[in-house]
This record gives sequence, structure tokens and C-alpha cells, in this order.
Amino acid sequence: MEGKTALILGVANRWSLAYAIAQAFQREGARLLLTYQGERLRKTVEELGASLGSSESPARVFECDVTRDEDLARLTETLATEDRLDAVVHSIAFANQADLARPFIETSRDGYLLAQNVSAYSMVAVARAVAPKMTNGGAILTLTYLGSTRVITNYNVMGVAKAALEAAVRYLAADLGPQNIRVNAISAGPVKTAAARGIKDFSKVLEAVEAHAPMRRNVTPGEVADLAAFLASDLGRGVTGDVLFCDAGYHIMGL
Ligand code: NAP
Repeated sequence: MEGKTALILGVANRWSLAYAIAQAFQREGARLLLTYQGERLRKTVEELGASLGSSESPARVFECDVTRDEDLARLTETLATEDRLDAVVHSIAFANQADLARPFIETSRDGYLLAQNVSAYSMVAVARAVAPKMTNGGAILTLTYLGSTRVITNYNVMGVAKAALEAAVRYLAADLGPQNIRVNAISAGPVKTAAARGIKDFSKVLEAVEAHAPMRRNVTPGEVADLAAFLASDLGRGVTGDVLFCDAGYHIMGL
């Protein structure tokens, strides 16, 4: 990824999948732009950004709450000062904890729309904001989970949002393919992060994967990040509109 510039949305802390991806992209030679959701995270993400950049090309860090149109407009303005963008990672999701804990049938309209807005529509809005800057083609990635196509206890409204996200990946890939912009999703196995802590009994999900995945273990953030680096680099140049699993093979298992 030498000579490439990558925008990564969704770093909250050092456990974020987005942070592991930023580390992998930097290792592969990319220059980084990082966003954080709000003032609460500014200091942490600035510190992480400082640890990632070099003195010649420090990581740029700025705020972007993907539910706010003014923040998306600011994203466009910030990108205007860049020559070009080659890779974009959307690593963002949110749902009310109550909606993740109660039966899916009891999901409220507001809770449903909130999960869709933050976790799925934002991918469309971000793609629209960044595509004009990807003048040499490039790759847009997002993070999804098996709960989009299988019923996973306590994933509920987020599973439906991830289904919409994966469909959005296919439609965006069709729209942007003629500009040589590829759009893909990585379906990661469970990893202990802040977002994952919102899922009731998450440790049982980790135990189930360890017991039943072909590789009898969970994946690491670094493994997810390496797949992201592959997709964002020229090595992934023939892949678009797809959902690639990085889950120690868990998704292939039946009984
Ligand atoms: P994470 O570190 O908590 O990352 C989630 C990020 O989304 C946070 O930076 C969060 O910011 C951000 N976010 C939420 N609402 C936002 C908004 N309105 N605008 C901008 N950013 C917003 O957890 P993670 O596990 O790395 O999650 C990253 C992605 O991976 C998510 O799409 C998640 O569904 C997916 N994924 C995770 C797993 C897993 O097991 N961890 C597995 C498969 C897929 P705040 O902290 O400020 O809310």
C-alpha cells in the first residue's frame, strides 16, 4: 500500500478492529486519515493517530459522526485538501443495548431505525462522500457479522442492520465498479471490543466458536486487519461486491 492514502472511520480505542486495520495499513506503507465519533473520543484517537503516523506523514485525525449531515459535509471538505484517496474502511455500528437483549419481535421503530441509520445507511453516505476523491480507483470496506444471514442469540436488530449493510455493499459495488472502486465486506468472527461488550452473553459466543469452528479458536484483530489490507491493496484488485469471512471457518459448520 506504499504511496496510498487510507481513510479509516470507527477507531474508538486500541481494541477497535479499525485500529488493528490502521496498524496493518501503516505497516504496508499507507498514509492514514482517522475519524472519531465525538469529542469524548478525541484525545484517545489523537494519541492513537500520533502513534501510527511517521514524522514525514503523520496520521490526520478528525471528527465525523456519521448520523450528522454537517459532519459528512466536513468530511468532504477535509478530503478536498488531499490529492487522492485509495482506501476507505467503514468500521461503525450501533444499536440500543435494550434492543440487543430483548426478543427481536419486540424491537421498537426507533431502535430499528437507529441501528439501520448508524450501521447500514452510513455506509451509503460515506461511499457517496469519498468516491469523488478516489480518482485512481480504490477500495471501500466495511465490517459485518454472521448474524446477517443466521440467527445469533442477542444479535437481533443488529443482524437485520448487517443484512442491509451487505446488500448495500453489492449495490455500491455495482454503482462504483465502472470507476474501478471496489466495495467489499469482511465478516469477522467475534472479537472482544467495546461494541461487542454491548451484546449480552458475548463470552458464550466466543466459547461456541472455540468449540465448533474448524480451527477450534477465535480470530485475532490482526487477522481481520490482514484481510482488510489484502482487499484494500492491489492484491484484491479482482474482488468486489463480496462478503469475505475471517472467522476461523465457523460459518461453514452445520451440525
Ligand atoms: P468498536 O471499537 O466499538 O467500534 C465501533 C465504532 O463505531 C466505534 O468507534 C464507535 O464510536 C463507532 N460509532 C458508533 N456510532 C457512530 C456514529 N454515529 N458515527 C461515527 N462512529 C460511530 O467495536 P468493533 O468491534 O471494532 O466494531 C467495528 C465494526 O466491526 C462494527 O461494524 C462491528 O459491527 C463490526 N464487527 C465486530 C465484531 C466483533 O466481534 N467485535 C465482529 C464482526 C463485525 P463510539 O465508541 O463513540 O460509539
